[in-house]
Formats: sequence, C-alpha cells, structure tokens
Amino acid sequence: MPCYISHTKNGDRMFICGDLGPHCVAERCSDVSGYLCDYPVGEGKTCDLPLCDSHAYEVAPNVHYCPGHLILWKEFRDAGGVERELRNVVPFSSSTPATEKGAT
Ligand SMILES: [Zn+2]
Ligand SMILES: [Zn+2]
Repeated sequence: MPCYISHTKNGDRMFICGDLGPHCVAERCSDVSGYLCDYPVGEGKTCDLPLCDSHAYEVAPNVHYCPGHLILWKEFRDAGGVERELRNVVPFSSSTPATEKGAT
C-alpha cells in the first residue's frame, strides 16, 4: 500500500497510507496528487503530471501547471506570447476579455 506525506497549512506533516493514486511528481514531495498538469503538449494532449495542492499552480480558473511548465508559461507570457496568441485568435478585438478566447 503506498504511503503519502501531506503538508498541512501550519507546517505539520501528515502521513497517509492507502490507494490514493499517484504521488505528486514535484521534487521531494510525497503528497497525494489532486491535480493534473494542464499544459498543452500538442495533439490535444496535456502534460498530465500528477500534482498535489501546493504544487499545482493555478494559472487560470481550473487550469493547473506543474512547476516545470509554470516556468515555461511565465517565460512565454513575459515574452508577450499570450498577447500575440490572443491577437491571432481575435484579430479585430481590442475589448474582448482574455477569458473569452473561444479557441477550442
Ligand atoms: Zn507536491
Ligand atoms: Zn506539466
């Protein structure tokens, strides 16, 4: 039976044993994974690495990235990639909020 180490908000560690699915993949983390990385890796697939509460970084509502992909995402965003992409999707809109991308 796999065991997990969960970190509570006040810094305590909690040991959990049971069949709760894969461990969080973050380095030295043995927590239960409640999330999967949603980073797109092509052909409609996503990264899908299992992540715990504290390692699933929410970049948009219900969109979580793993630590490695968070870095890629930040670089992409900081380079203006998001804006470029939005302009491609809705070429004539300057007032459409980013959440209404509608690109699927
Ligand atoms: Zn974790
Ligand atoms: Zn990922």
